[in-house]
Amino acid sequence: MNQKVSFYTLGCRLNQAETAIIRRGFEAEGYEVVNFEEPSDLVVINTCTVTENGDADTRRLVNKINRVNNSAQIALVGCQAQVQQAKLLDLPGVQWVVGNGAKMELAKILQNAGTDTPQVIAPAIPRESFTIPVIGIDYSRTRANLKIQDGCDFFCTFCEIPFARGRARSREFDDILASARQLFQAGRKEMVLTGINIGTYQFQNRNFMDVLSNLSAVEGVERVRISSIEPTTVPDLLLHHMQSDSKLCRYLHIPIQSGCDGILQAMKRKYCVAEFMDFLRSAYEQVPGICLGTDVIVGFPGESEEHFEETYNLLLYSPFAYFHVFSYSDRDHTRSRKFPDKVERSIIELRSKRLRELSYRKRQNYFKQFLGERVTVLFEQPKNGYWTGLSENYIRIKVKSNLNLENELVPVRLREIDQEAMIGTIV
Ligand code: SF4
Repeated sequence: MNQKVSFYTLGCRLNQAETAIIRRGFEAEGYEVVNFEEPSDLVVINTCTVTENGDADTRRLVNKINRVNNSAQIALVGCQAQVQQAKLLDLPGVQWVVGNGAKMELAKILQNAGTDTPQVIAPAIPRESFTIPVIGIDYSRTRANLKIQDGCDFFCTFCEIPFARGRARSREFDDILASARQLFQAGRKEMVLTGINIGTYQFQNRNFMDVLSNLSAVEGVERVRISSIEPTTVPDLLLHHMQSDSKLCRYLHIPIQSGCDGILQAMKRKYCVAEFMDFLRSAYEQVPGICLGTDVIVGFPGESEEHFEETYNLLLYSPFAYFHVFSYSDRDHTRSRKFPDKVERSIIELRSKRLRELSYRKRQNYFKQFLGERVTVLFEQPKNGYWTGLSENYIRIKVKSNLNLENELVPVRLREIDQEAMIGTIV
């Protein structure tokens, strides 16, 4: 009988993309993939360490596996596995801790790894450009995450990612296009470009703009979406390209992290607030209807009440449609860990709550401008009596329909605003 394996992914879109690839490796080795929590021989958790909440999630999941699936071996892989090897190896039931330099070959590696004692497998992370020989199809998602890059050289003072994922490196250009063709053949219409710092993409003489324009030319690809891009890496031509290339989604998620110049400097971010806002305004003016989103960190060391109010007001009057709010926590390898003036947890929670409420209101306001408009929706799955999907400018849209809309691009007239979505009718 085939060995059974299940997967759980914590963290970002890149981790999702990588789990899909790791999973293919196990299928190729003859494993049967089952749902998480079903009895299995092996459980793989692709970990995240961006905040202490990510770390806590790993411990919670390991405890759960030990309760409900206690004969399974556990492999913890990815970012937290890279930077907290000994700590993770101590968790009950964990057999393997596998870093980012090895996890993509996990199925093959575990075939040859012994099971006598728990072990760490964490070779140095390569610095060279890379290829991905298999395509990872995540059958639970309609849109395909397409990995084009990994690692980061920026070393922002709060961020452990350069330690967890290594230095910036790019996927070979032709390999990206080959994957896009295969993903289209597997039925995927939207490609979401993922990586850690994708705007720094460089392979030989090809840059990020080359990736964008060549991907939308791949036959069958209907949409290309940029997931998250660092502000100082947005190419000058991008906005113009977004206006003229109908396949490139009018959507940008650009992390601002703080709305206060002093905090940005302490974070070693490479821009000031005025530059960032100039870009945002020109994006908003040049690309009508664009959805602009951001990440913001609350409670960075030294963030006073005044600093926070600066951030709050900046976001309030910005053209952002939403923001993801992260509560600052010390990470092992970061410089900010040693900074004085740590902000109390209770204050961080209050500030985070205020920003999350503001984000909700901003999104509702963003929705209002589209009432009565006709948009095209890529539908995903039915949920609570509605089919839901996304417009190219990142509005979640719900319709009632008896048709099977899965993976269909359908025109919809937007009629109402719901909590986190808009409701429409097919036209
Ligand atoms: S740009 Fe800064 S925040 Fe983003 S991954 Fe690199 S170091 Fe981390």
